[in-house]
Amino acid sequence: MPLMSDYMVQIEKLISRDPGGRNIGRLVQPGHLAEAARSLLGAKKVLVVTGFPVASAGVGETDGPPGALALGRAVAALDIPVAYLTDSVNAPLLKAVGAEPLLTYAPDLLDRERFSHLVAVERPGRAEDGSYYNMFGRPIDHLVEPVDELFLQAPRLGLTTVGVGDGGNEVGMGLVRDLAAGLVNNGDKIVSTVATDFLITAGVSNWGAWGLAAALSVLSGRDLLPGVDQATEAVRAVLEAGGVDGVTGEAAMKVDGMTLDRHDEILTGLQDIVARSMAK
Ligand code: ZN
Ligand code: ZN
Repeated sequence: MPLMSDYMVQIEKLISRDPGGRNIGRLVQPGHLAEAARSLLGAKKVLVVTGFPVASAGVGETDGPPGALALGRAVAALDIPVAYLTDSVNAPLLKAVGAEPLLTYAPDLLDRERFSHLVAVERPGRAEDGSYYNMFGRPIDHLVEPVDELFLQAPRLGLTTVGVGDGGNEVGMGLVRDLAAGLVNNGDKIVSTVATDFLITAGVSNWGAWGLAAALSVLSGRDLLPGVDQATEAVRAVLEAGGVDGVTGEAAMKVDGMTLDRHDEILTGLQDIVARSMAK
């Protein structure tokens, strides 16, 4: 009989495949996936933050919102209240995938809404110099609201934070800042200083969010993952709302430059792990 921790390791391995060759393997924090999921199981209220703008297009991308939705739905299925947050550039994309309630950023949001957990899925985190950068090293400050500020406030308020990222410039990567700066392209410039309690490094951030939903499934004994059709529908909705593929800038059925069959393979693999964990 495999142990629960074996399934967690399998999930961690699958989501940290590095098709983009971004050198992310060494940024994986073994055990964080399981610990983050275990913590989320006891959450009182979860805020899911996402949305990474594409500089060339001035709109949001297909990596982020589909994963954020999948994770939010998994948490909601466990009867834990969930809300979503992004900025004005990405709000139409979140609305299109059906992420609700959708909040707008305010610096005092955490004083007004009582969250126990904040989860960032592919969300820009400020770099050493205070600016936000894309993976090509271009500043994107004009497209980003300082939502990562909430993750800086969280420790003082006693909130638990989780970051899901795939490139080093996202909220959460502050946990491995020095290592990431030496590994990813333009690392010194782009890597975020915003840390989270748990960091899920994935080949694609949507995979990391699915991985968290898979880990919640293994722990709860309930299949909380989206189907392949649902995942495809979320990408389609992002495109219809004006989003693009973040790597190529195309309005095409792609995520991080890869056609959806590559993503379906990961999701199907996660579904297999969850099914095996539940088999008697
Ligand atoms: Zn990224
Ligand atoms: Zn990505």
